[in-house]
Amino acid sequence: MAVQQNKSTCPFCGLGCGLMVGVEQGKIVEISGMKGHPANNGDTCLLPRNYPPIFTDKDRLKQPMVRRNSRLVPVSWDEAIKHVADGFKKILDEHGPKSVAFYGGAINLTEEYYLMNKFMKAAIGTNNIECSTRLCMASAAVGFISTLGADAPPAMRKSGSFSHCRLQHGCFNPRFVQTPQSC
Ligand code: SF4
Repeated sequence: MAVQQNKSTCPFCGLGCGLMVGVEQGKIVEISGMKGHPANNGDTCLLPRNYPPIFTDKDRLKQPMVRRNSRLVPVSWDEAIKHVADGFKKILDEHGPKSVAFYGGAINLTEEYYLMNKFMKAAIGTNNIECSTRLCMASAAVGFISTLGADAPPAMRKSGSFSHCRLQHGCFNPRFVQTPQSC
């Protein structure tokens, strides 16, 4: 059976690389960069190329688990959601809205951040919400300002194709690190 190619966007970092996701018999079997995409033009770092085995790994978690008597046991989604809601309610009843917090990750989408902000502030009643800004990008912003004078990545993805010398730090994309001419 032919591998069907589907367009997608990599969710891992802020670069937003376009991906082609190859699906065969309902399973993801290969992932490559999308040619012509403005962010990566066919390239990717190592992360998405290594995704496919993750989807079929025998130890992949496929349903919620709840710890009972020190053992994790599988439960339905309804049970899991009730378990979390009951736990939240108990803490809120006993200690008030400032006793809970939400800490998001760099991979959440803007819409997810928006929903969590609404949920924590309007439903729970706390400002204890952090979506990666301070603990993730704050350090990068300080680095950008102290070394380059601006709080933003200063180069386009394709700058690498015409630069003669680059200093690159903390990048997990070996293809992006290759320099066409030596320094
Ligand atoms: S650089 Fe890597 S992790 Fe970031 S969006 Fe592109 S493929 Fe994904």
